[in-house]
Amino acid sequence: MTDLNRTAFPKCNDRLVEDIDTLVVGAGQAGVAMSEHLSKLGVPHLVLERNRIAEAWRTGRWDSLVANGPVWHDRFPGLEFDLDPDAFAPKEQVAAYFEAYARKFNAPIRTGVEVKRVVRNADRPGFTVETSEGVIRANRVVAATGPFQRPVIPPIAPNDTALTQLHSAAYRNPQQLPAGAVLVVGAGSSGVQIADELQRSGRQVYLSVGAHDRPPRSYRGRDFCWWLGVLGLWDMEAAQPGKEHVTIAVSGARGGQTIDFRGLAEQGLTLVGLTKAFSNGVVSFQADLADNLARGDENYLELLDAADAYIARNGLDLPEEPEARRKFPDPDCVTHPLLELDLAAAGVTSIIWATGYAVDFSWLQVGAFDANGKPQHQRGVSSEPGVYFLGLPWLSRRGSTFIWGVWHDAKHIADHIATQHKYLAYRDAAQRQAAAQDARAEAAVPKLSILGAS
Ligand SMILES: Cc1cc2nc3c(=O)[nH]c(=O)nc-3n(C[C@H](O)[C@H](O)[C@H](O)COP(=O)(O)OP(=O)(O)OC[C@H]3O[C@@H](n4cnc5c(N)ncnc54)[C@H](O)[C@@H]3O)c2cc1C
Repeated sequence: MTDLNRTAFPKCNDRLVEDIDTLVVGAGQAGVAMSEHLSKLGVPHLVLERNRIAEAWRTGRWDSLVANGPVWHDRFPGLEFDLDPDAFAPKEQVAAYFEAYARKFNAPIRTGVEVKRVVRNADRPGFTVETSEGVIRANRVVAATGPFQRPVIPPIAPNDTALTQLHSAAYRNPQQLPAGAVLVVGAGSSGVQIADELQRSGRQVYLSVGAHDRPPRSYRGRDFCWWLGVLGLWDMEAAQPGKEHVTIAVSGARGGQTIDFRGLAEQGLTLVGLTKAFSNGVVSFQADLADNLARGDENYLELLDAADAYIARNGLDLPEEPEARRKFPDPDCVTHPLLELDLAAAGVTSIIWATGYAVDFSWLQVGAFDANGKPQHQRGVSSEPGVYFLGLPWLSRRGSTFIWGVWHDAKHIADHIATQHKYLAYRDAAQRQAAAQDARAEAAVPKLSILGAS
């Protein structure tokens, strides 16, 4: 690789300036995939990463995290993990995987360099890119800075200094929190795994559950990643209407188990509905817990039904699993939901906000965004010629933010860039003739070494 240890920029007129055809910003899985496809197509490029390769997997997540998908699925086609195919890779191994992957094809990645600003040139084609180490002139820019750049804590968060409040991005382990009970807001994959870990460490935990999808971890001998694949659900091009903000509750922790909220309540967690407001040390919840669980059950059963139909249609010999349809009885916290909780009286000392992320493209100062700042693009090819987005939710399909999905989106974008190269390399008849004449003239000039020869 050009640099895991950093190389200096060439200096020019006291400014550090470098020219490159395609600049990729970010070296997470998206940037690495982009670099692989550009390399295969012979497109000169450079990847700039402000931290280290796959930094989000190293320091942006909690200590015990393992990948949500088994390693036979959550990987790029060109390299397997050195693990049992059905295992769930610990996060450090995921980071090491992407580093090894980049090394495999000698990816031109420069780490420790932040892109501060990208603007379109007024007087010539391409973009000027200001970085922490100098200026780059690029014909094209691929924003591979990730789907989860800025942790979002909703404005209802209380202004209470006595409480420890963390976003899930800053949560590491139970020992990090002061003694006492914890309220976890958000029950997607992060919230539900963190709540489970805290409860298992001996804490009293309240888990605020909103709308969610809840696939079976596995059914009839196949992981849900397999089911989503064969049923074409990873390839869905847009979220079903009304489900745009529905999170997915899934986990590879402890070998991978289906998230069952009633089971978590049985284990000792207290489930509550969507968190509504905080006032004078009291948090209020919506009365929607039973509905949210019912909709999650519906989604779960839909997948089982679709899987059964697929098995029947294709005559597969996969073992029946009737127990997958068994439902835990509704626990007391569901039948008599808490609508208010006095935090101090309940001994709650911490709140974990597992409430998602937003993107931050403040550095990309080009016309590729709508009035609300949303990237405008078609499968990552933006409305601003020469600017590309990669790794965004639903970029081309449901799988776009996931490891295997981003690899396919990167291929599409690299193909687009290579096709543009071909168009730009075209010369018309007059130009071809002029080039041939130049070549002939060049060949006719006696070469010094020939003149000198006896
Ligand atoms: C808790 C959690 C668990 C997940 N588990 C899985 C899973 O099991 N399987 C799966 O397929 N997906 C999973 N995902 C989803 C997705 O795979 C990850 O979020 C992944 O990190 C996204 O990769 P990325 O390359 O798009 O973005 P990132 O990994 O965020 O990489 C973007 C990179 O860009 C760099 N960067 C940003 N701005 C700049 C700048 N201005 N200049 C230079 N560099 C910059 C950042 O430092 C970062 O390294 C998970 C996500 C989360 C939050």
